[in-house]
Amino acid sequence: MEFLQNPKIEIVSIAVAVVAVAVAVGTTYYLNISKKKSKKGCLDSEQFKEFKLVERIQLSHNVAKFKFALPTPTSVLGLPIGQHISCRGKDALGEEVIKPYTPTTLDSDVGYFELVIKMYPQGRMSHFFRELRVGDYMSVKGPKGRFKYQPGEVKAFGMLAGGSGITPMFQVARAILENPKDKTNVHLIYANVTYEDILLKEELDSLASNYPGRFKVYYVLNQPPEEWNGGVGFVSKEMIQEHLPAPASDIRILRCGPPPMNKAMAAHLEALGYAPEMQFQF
Ligand SMILES: Cc1cc2nc3c(=O)[nH]c(=O)nc-3n(C[C@H](O)[C@H](O)[C@H](O)COP(=O)(O)OP(=O)(O)OC[C@H]3O[C@@H](n4cnc5c(N)ncnc54)[C@H](O)[C@@H]3O)c2cc1C
Repeated sequence: MEFLQNPKIEIVSIAVAVVAVAVAVGTTYYLNISKKKSKKGCLDSEQFKEFKLVERIQLSHNVAKFKFALPTPTSVLGLPIGQHISCRGKDALGEEVIKPYTPTTLDSDVGYFELVIKMYPQGRMSHFFRELRVGDYMSVKGPKGRFKYQPGEVKAFGMLAGGSGITPMFQVARAILENPKDKTNVHLIYANVTYEDILLKEELDSLASNYPGRFKVYYVLNQPPEEWNGGVGFVSKEMIQEHLPAPASDIRILRCGPPPMNKAMAAHLEALGYAPEMQFQF
């Protein structure tokens, strides 16, 4: 104990303690900052950033899945549930075109994000995606959108999707169902022209079988195959009554499809007594 009475040794001990505390505080601060940074994701809402296409899988004659790499294998895109990104490309005339797309991946999918794109023969951005090859880059800005999902904000979602309008619904449904703390139910009506047009069918069917009490999907086709147990024609008021939650303050109906379908669905919902605050159109 003699050394404690030596003032020189005491000063050195105090200095060592101060440095140790400073290092500990500094490390904690640095770790917190890094954590916040990694949580922030890779998007910039002000400026376009480039992402490299690393895989392209043709799903049907006019639909492909595009996988883009994030800067590191542990990076996350950082897109809030229910929001989308703006993608920039060039049309067939070389003119700039910007369109919204919703990734089918979540932040639990680290190191990459994926887009499922339906390419229309005359579509301006469709041309860009048709020409995009592995190794090419695409410019992306975001997050964008008015819809932000908070777990537990409603008891159930009804979803009315048409064609490629399924992607925001799929993103929201996946986030809800894969969160064990979220008890929200999801009821989807998904309309297409033919059976081959149905996007993400395997993924939707596996959500329905993995979460039988919480997720239900009802497919509707204009031109159904011979054997078909889904709906036929356009989505009707009766289909909505049968397959979506009834109007109530703790439910919400999400709509995303081609403009004529959105218009028809808005009229059906109004006639069935769904107030404007019970609905959202992507
Ligand atoms: C929030 C949001 C998210 C979206 N996410 C996706 C996504 O993940 N994947 C995806 O493929 N698309 C998605 N879309 C649609 C996408 O933004 C484009 O509208 C679509 O890719 C067509 O763009 P284009 O420039 O190729 O066609 P355009 O040049 O705009 O149109 C060319 C032709 O295609 C027809 N057309 C365009 N869109 C549709 C449609 N929806 N149904 C039927 N005919 C149509 C037009 O009538 C026209 O004849 C989303 C849209 C929104 C609003």
